[in-house]
Amino acid sequence: MKIAVFPGDGIGPEVTREAVRVLEALDLPGLTLFEGDVGGAAYARHGHPLPPETLAMAREADAVLFGAVGDPACDGLERHLRPEQAILGLRGELGLFANLRPATCQPGLENMSALRPQIARSIDLLIVRELNGDVYFGDKALETLPDGRRRGWDMMSYAEDEVRRIAHVAFRAAQGRKGRLCSIDKANVLETSQLWRDVVSEVAGEYPNVALDHMYVDNAAMQLVRDPGRFDVVVTGNLFGDILSDQASMCVGSIGLLASASLGERATGYGTFGLYEPIHGSAPDIAGEGRANPMATILSAAMMLRHSFGREAEAARVEAAVARALADGVRGADLGGKADTVSIGDAVIERL
Ligand code: NAD
Repeated sequence: MKIAVFPGDGIGPEVTREAVRVLEALDLPGLTLFEGDVGGAAYARHGHPLPPETLAMAREADAVLFGAVGDPACDGLERHLRPEQAILGLRGELGLFANLRPATCQPGLENMSALRPQIARSIDLLIVRELNGDVYFGDKALETLPDGRRRGWDMMSYAEDEVRRIAHVAFRAAQGRKGRLCSIDKANVLETSQLWRDVVSEVAGEYPNVALDHMYVDNAAMQLVRDPGRFDVVVTGNLFGDILSDQASMCVGSIGLLASASLGERATGYGTFGLYEPIHGSAPDIAGEGRANPMATILSAAMMLRHSFGREAEAARVEAAVARALADGVRGADLGGKADTVSIGDAVIERL
């Protein structure tokens, strides 16, 4: 089980250090960790935010644990040298096509949600977003028409194999949860969505124990705030997923608690190769102060145990330890508390 650890910038190194301590506390046989530079830190040392040696390290690994990238000192750099290019480059180079974002309201934190507590309490969902296709990657242009008007266009498309592979990821995830999958599209208007719906329905035949339903994206945006408890696993394309996953995150509350996984197709022998990271950024405003909440990164490491290493029991142990720490009142600055980064790591390890 080879893990490449890329701490990155700002609070990235602070939060990944705690996640690594949690992984080490599990004392799993065969676990090997090695560290590489990404982001502004990599630019400072190698002149590039994603140096070839870092990419080689990621390819060598079974999973990547990623902190965060982004450094205001790099704002003046050309776009291809900015720290944020490291994560985009890794997604593209490693073929990470499935983005998984769980959103669960932890008991006692209902008041952090933008929703009413009694609605927030019901949230326990997983958004599976396609990451490599859709309107973001199609042909596009800004042009001037013969009559002088400017026009912009972007081509939306999915090939059936692209839909099929993300559908399999989502159905498998639903099998490991409550067995419900909601596929979100706009099939009443878009041909791309009609194909999406047809292919997801075909794949459903291979998962008789998962209940599938389809929902239009406009209705889904409404249901996510009206009755989020109705969702278990949600699967959708890149554009709709981009918007809905941020919406779902904020329905839960603090940014310091939300984990994510980006999965590729390569099998690791125990699961699927993936990159795991908190959804927050490098938080330059609190970097170096020891105030960052490492729970999102620790929960990302739990997702790694589940998806890349097939270690469901250990993943659940880590998640339970985080939930117990929160229930016991361990709160970082993001949750209005005083616990520092290292003491939050300690609290989780004690509860393992
Ligand atoms: P951010 O997520 O870094 O911070 C937003 C706010 O949340 C800040 O006030 C920050 O202090 C707080 N916060 C974030 N994580 C926290 C944690 N774990 N504990 C406590 N408080 C936390 O977003 P931003 O300020 O918009 O961006 C800062 C930099 O991060 C930018 O350079 C941006 O491009 C980059 N960024 C990187 C990623 C990534 O690496 N995947 C994602 C988002 C943003």
